[in-house]
Amino acid sequence: MVNTVFLKKGRNKSIVAGNPWVFSGAIEKESGDLTPGSICQVRTADRRLLGTGYYNRASAIRIRLLQWGEQSLDPAWLEQAIEQAITHRTAVLTSSTDSCRMINAEGDFIPGLIVDRFAGGLVVQILTAGMELLREKILAALEKYCTPLFIYERSDTESRLREGLTEREGLLTGQLPDELVVKELGLAFAIDIVGGQKTGFYFDQRINRALLQTYAAGRTVCDCFSYSGPFTVHALAGGAVSVDAVDRSVGALERIDGNVAKNGFDTKRVTTTNADVFSYLREVDKGYDCIVLDPPKFAKHPGEVDRAARGYKDINLLALKNVNPGGVVFTFSCSQAVDTKLFRQIVFAAASDAKRKVQLLHQLTAGPDHPVNLAHREGEYLKGLVVRVVA
Ligand code: SAH
Repeated sequence: MVNTVFLKKGRNKSIVAGNPWVFSGAIEKESGDLTPGSICQVRTADRRLLGTGYYNRASAIRIRLLQWGEQSLDPAWLEQAIEQAITHRTAVLTSSTDSCRMINAEGDFIPGLIVDRFAGGLVVQILTAGMELLREKILAALEKYCTPLFIYERSDTESRLREGLTEREGLLTGQLPDELVVKELGLAFAIDIVGGQKTGFYFDQRINRALLQTYAAGRTVCDCFSYSGPFTVHALAGGAVSVDAVDRSVGALERIDGNVAKNGFDTKRVTTTNADVFSYLREVDKGYDCIVLDPPKFAKHPGEVDRAARGYKDINLLALKNVNPGGVVFTFSCSQAVDTKLFRQIVFAAASDAKRKVQLLHQLTAGPDHPVNLAHREGEYLKGLVVRVVA
């Protein structure tokens, strides 16, 4: 018997439009041997076939669609989707950038799979039961299209637990180099794949770091939530006078000087501070010409939006109070649940409370190696604003 779920009447719309997620609440009835990760057809209440995806009862996202339409699932879908994703990255990978996100899950129509390229190697995150069942095929396709020096798995994410899986981590193929260095827009960064956050580097900010370079000349910069210092190094490359990098991870801060020196900049231009950014900005007694705010996700799900909004408001208020007239703030949110409109409202309210007159200069998103399925707004998580403080 073919695994099938039938949707409730009137619940087809987003799926027909191309959203891959079928939530448990949209399902009228299920039939077949629906083991976690198994392939499953999605039909309307009147039995019309809308598409095919993989199923997991453990998740509120019961099905993630892999293919739309009435034809049966093409056995080559995964390999084709991986090839397409990799082909698109030739637009991103250049002689000055050798690393980026290669596969962006739902945004590349491969739900539950993240692959980042670090110079010649790959780091994978297999996030769902459906993808877990395809593990061998995924690795074979990555070998075929990328011939990586190594494949390292960092599926040590909480979301796997919600899928009924356990965390997994370790070297899958090849060998890790003694020192792994990536090149981003001509700048070099040493990467700690094993101990670093996420897959080791936040590639989503690359185009925004390039923009920071254009504002950095002659400015004093504060890189809040600096991690291992990519915004710091780009600011130096753009001619920043000095950069104060603040993060609460000692391990991340320890890597900054190395990254600064690796690019030929004087480490005396950089001060690292291990602190909570909220306290730091509350207590710092100097003004900056440029502040970067790239906090972690404050809202993990829609239920946390109010609390997250207060966090964003506080941090932006504190930053705006500490900017010299004529200075700029690069402010970001990577909370999917806080949408672009709400984020703007928060930043504008913070400016008003800080009694600063501001201009909006740029509205930012993740780069093109993080494509978004237009019918899947959930994939559009990173948003940023550049505001100039006039007075
Ligand atoms: N800007 C970085 C990425 C930042 S990720 C880049 O471009 O690569 C978020 C960072 O915030 C992490 O390094 C984490 O250690 C740090 N962090 C989280 N909460 C913090 C807090 N309250 N104060 C200071 N740092 C914090």
